[in-house]
Amino acid sequence: MKSLHLLASTLTLIGLAFLGSWPLAAQTAPAAVVADPPVDRQSPPGLAMFTVPSHGVDLDAWLYVASGAGPHRTVVLPHGLPGYEMSGDLAQSIRRAGWNVLLFHYRGTWGVGGTFSQSSAIEDIAEVVRFLRDPEVAAKYRTDPKQLVLIGHSFGGFIAGYEASHDSDVKAVAMIAAVNLGRISADPKEREARLKRWETQLHPVRGATASELFAEAEWHAKDWDYVQWAEALRSRPVLLVEADDQNHADMEALASALRQKRAIGLEQIAVSTDHSFSDHRLLLQSIVVRWLEKLETNESQAAKESSTRTKVVLLGTGTPIPDPDRSGPATAIVVDDRAYLIDFGPGVVRRAEAAALKREIPAVEPGNLKVAFVTHLHSDHTAGYSDLILGGWTSGRSVPLEVYGPTGLQSMTEHLLQAYRVDIETRTNPEGNQRRFPNGSKVNAHEIKSGLIYKDDKITVTAFATKHAMESYGYRFETPDRTIVISGDTNPVDATITACNGCDVLIHEAQPLELLAKLPESMQSFDAKYHTTTEQLAELAAKAKPKLLVIYHTVSFPPGIAPPRLLSPKAVADALYASPEMLQKEIGSRYSGKFAIGGDLDVY
Ligand SMILES: [Zn+2]
Ligand SMILES: [Zn+2]
Repeated sequence: MKSLHLLASTLTLIGLAFLGSWPLAAQTAPAAVVADPPVDRQSPPGLAMFTVPSHGVDLDAWLYVASGAGPHRTVVLPHGLPGYEMSGDLAQSIRRAGWNVLLFHYRGTWGVGGTFSQSSAIEDIAEVVRFLRDPEVAAKYRTDPKQLVLIGHSFGGFIAGYEASHDSDVKAVAMIAAVNLGRISADPKEREARLKRWETQLHPVRGATASELFAEAEWHAKDWDYVQWAEALRSRPVLLVEADDQNHADMEALASALRQKRAIGLEQIAVSTDHSFSDHRLLLQSIVVRWLEKLETNESQAAKESSTRTKVVLLGTGTPIPDPDRSGPATAIVVDDRAYLIDFGPGVVRRAEAAALKREIPAVEPGNLKVAFVTHLHSDHTAGYSDLILGGWTSGRSVPLEVYGPTGLQSMTEHLLQAYRVDIETRTNPEGNQRRFPNGSKVNAHEIKSGLIYKDDKITVTAFATKHAMESYGYRFETPDRTIVISGDTNPVDATITACNGCDVLIHEAQPLELLAKLPESMQSFDAKYHTTTEQLAELAAKAKPKLLVIYHTVSFPPGIAPPRLLSPKAVADALYASPEMLQKEIGSRYSGKFAIGGDLDVY
């Protein structure tokens, strides 16, 4: 096991959190790798052999049927090229773990009719997936057609990734030492070496020479560069298992693209072994089986989460920096069909609509936002206020907006309504399109102090003073099933620890040390007084003990937008970018609880 090192492990599913580093160091292999399951005489395991039609050819296929009545989740295991390593050992372990496993030969390989090309193999796997979704097939072989996972090694890894990225109903994909066909000609020396190998290995392949396959790959270079599939794969669990082989750099590039896209379920594991994992087959089985087992646990957990009444929806996780991917601070707590907003940074109304559509949470439709709490009056937290008032009204809110916040809120509200007097008058005059619900343009602004500030049948809200550049509050929300605390902008304060005290979710700002060190002295001293470093947050969270810590409002200039005034002339353009990895490292090395780096539209 020494040779295994875990490069990174981020495992999140929608609604679930970053789980910290996964203790993969599999001191003990999963039972399925080393022991047969109990005998089931009613529904014994079996081997089914059949053909799958694909473009006029019958593909040889066989299915290891798992023990038990099922329906079983099913893995499709496309083989390499030409497929001397069928990964039969992997298939057997996966079956012992309770999954059905389908193997097949591509057209034009191993005696199957037709001629082989990489494009036809891409078609073949699509047909195999289609076959497994046939209700009759599913019933006959005790498979669950909704739970298909693709796992492939080498060329099979490419095929698995291609199919998963082009079929969003595939649940998850594992790519093991996968070849990136889109880039096999990128390095002339590497191309030469590969071509030589292929020339000697294609005996079981009919209808294609090595150089023809290379030409085909070059022709499709753009579509077949798997790094480009990150966007399509980002929303599903992806396992990347790397070897010390010629595909390592491409696998790394895919992993990094997935992280860049904030993939919700990436696990990347590097094993020090050859391309075929010759001396680590048992470890490979353990890695794959553990990953599959985790998919099952996470799914049942996700099902449980989706039945919870209270959700946290991050609408904006940014700062004053105009990061196109991070809207101004705004968070919604949704209880059943009702939403409560905290802060309304720029972009809030559009992000609320996006969350309503993309996360299917109608409670955050702009017209449904009726109650809001503001942590402090800094512009990054309030520049969306006029849009919330007026955009919410034109989107259907017919009652006044109720807003709670520090001293100055009433005056800000009056001035905004005054500033938009012409708009409001025009919309409510006898011809105005909002004349039937004029009250929607009104706002009841409540200036608060610490203590209980709001209560209805779904939620109780308590404010506590925080330490920022002006009067500022954090809030504790109690709902029928969860307690949630949000910090707003603040230096660490004990009140947050008291308010949370084992709460379900603590949403807290954090500034990375590595980035702070690069900022000008004036900004460093402001942050030291009025914000929280990752180190301080780790310490605070250890005392507050939230079940989940969500980090937001982190200073970060994404690559390309750092203003020159903050950079020395020699500094690179992304010198002030706080990558998710940076935060992960700074928090993860200091805090052992469960935490997540919040992103816009994340739901917890
Ligand atoms: Zn702020
Ligand atoms: Zn602030």
